[in-house]
Amino acid sequence: MLEDAEISRILVIMAHPDDVDFGSAGTIARWTDAGIGVSYCLVTNGDAGGSDRSVSRADMTLIRQAEQTNAAKQVGVHDLHFLGYPDGQVEATLGLRRDLARIIRLLRPDRVVCPSPERNYWRMGISHPDHRAVGSAALDAVYPDARNPFAFPELLAEERLEPWTVREVWIAASPAPTNYVDITETFPRKVAALRSHVSQISDPDGLEQMLRDRLARTATEGGLPEGRLAEAFQVLQSG
Ligand SMILES: [Zn+2]
Repeated sequence: MLEDAEISRILVIMAHPDDVDFGSAGTIARWTDAGIGVSYCLVTNGDAGGSDRSVSRADMTLIRQAEQTNAAKQVGVHDLHFLGYPDGQVEATLGLRRDLARIIRLLRPDRVVCPSPERNYWRMGISHPDHRAVGSAALDAVYPDARNPFAFPELLAEERLEPWTVREVWIAASPAPTNYVDITETFPRKVAALRSHVSQISDPDGLEQMLRDRLARTATEGGLPEGRLAEAFQVLQSG
């Protein structure tokens, strides 16, 4: 696994606003504290989210973009890219792979964070079809699309985007995590990031305790000492 000191830029690719904050915000706050530049790429605007039927879906798009932008600020992230795919209908198409290869070549990250393309049979909610499709397309964009000059040749010919090799991938919500990050110190900022998703949080008062319980369980699974909180990832060498 690469040391954070070897990393200057990280790209987080997720399906919906709030995915990054549930799975990774505590870890991201540690990275930005260490001076690493972090960017987000959100494939959808989360326009199928929330339970308030009186909010138009066009309004929901704007609300969720604003909420994700606020959440990102809580953990030191200011560079966000929304691809605008329809929420709930994402497939791992060649078009999505090209869009993700484009953003990888544009931002040239050392490390990519993405969802798992695998179904997690223990936690249904984290295996949303959009998450699995984005995980699959993101891994294909890392290898081979972004690094191969002959994959989507128009990216090079028309947009002058040189091939780029991402060195490491961190899969969030993997059924087979390999790395546990202690986020006890950054936990309050993760909670603040999640509270920014006002349209999605039905029980803001219970949120902190729910997160604390879940992250404490993750820490225990990872062998961290009693009282610590952790986020878990499956880390792949890709470069
Ligand atoms: Zn999601």
